[in-house]
Amino acid sequence: MRIDLHTHSNVSDGTDEPAALVEAAARSGLAVVALTDHDTFDGLDEAQAAGERLGVEVVRGVELSTRYGDDSVHLLGYGVDETDPALSAEMAAIRDGRERRLQIMVQRLNDLGIMITEEMVLAQAGDSPSLGRPHFADAMVAHGDVADRTEAFDRWLAEGRPGYVGRHAVDLERAIGLVRGAGGVAVVAHPWGRGRAETLPTDVLQTMITEHGLDGIEVDHQDHDQQTRAALRAFATEAGVLITGSSDYHGTGKVDHDLGCNTTDPEMFDRLQRLVGERRGQPSGPAA
Ligand code: AMP
Ligand code: ZN
Ligand code: FE
Ligand code: FE
Repeated sequence: MRIDLHTHSNVSDGTDEPAALVEAAARSGLAVVALTDHDTFDGLDEAQAAGERLGVEVVRGVELSTRYGDDSVHLLGYGVDETDPALSAEMAAIRDGRERRLQIMVQRLNDLGIMITEEMVLAQAGDSPSLGRPHFADAMVAHGDVADRTEAFDRWLAEGRPGYVGRHAVDLERAIGLVRGAGGVAVVAHPWGRGRAETLPTDVLQTMITEHGLDGIEVDHQDHDQQTRAALRAFATEAGVLITGSSDYHGTGKVDHDLGCNTTDPEMFDRLQRLVGERRGQPSGPAA
């Protein structure tokens, strides 16, 4: 039984429609796939309907844009009450920050000689309610400034590059509390990928677990090399939290992230589902 707990559709910055993503999951031999678009639930109903048609279990999820200090951290939330007012309000604020960044970031890129327009970015985003840097990257590709998303990020858009513009994100501790408060399970995404190991060393992760109720750690992810995975797995095992593995699939938008390239152990998935069942049955806050 193959389980992939982190994917993106074109409702955020992936390239597949939600139903097409689930069809691709079925073709890849996945029994379970979680759709975890950035800061929106909008693709979940379509994905779940496709899953019912195709015999793939679709887990309802989200990847929240959070921060720890000045650094960006991604938090996966599974099985939350999608009508929870506090969580919904925060997600709306994040999406709003994404929209407010549009004008600033286009101006910044124009100052750097990349003459894309807001309309070009919006055309790439289509109906997505969650405007992301990959849409800027796609506009730059379409305009002939770069060859692909990777070049756009490496030269311009990654944190620390000249075209990078920050936006609103919720504090990690608060995001964990919001997911837990909405009856969901909180798993930190790729915590030691792309320089994040300095943001989230083991003592910080431990505090997130004991004081804020973090439930799990995404260990098997393409941004983690074998050594990183081994160290993170040892830490998570010792801490007694969930360990997940996933592709972080973005369709054609991200190379080397094919569906099922990393998977989650069925026993871990079982634990995750039981936690959601317990919490949605009886609402609970963060661990004391
Ligand atoms: P944003 O949500 O606007 O901050 O953009 C973050 C998204 O950009 C994430 O979904 C990543 O998958 C994507 N991303 C970040 N760094 C890179 C990179 N170096 N190459 C391609 N995509 C990236
Ligand atoms: Zn993404
Ligand atoms: Fe992420
Ligand atoms: Fe992701």
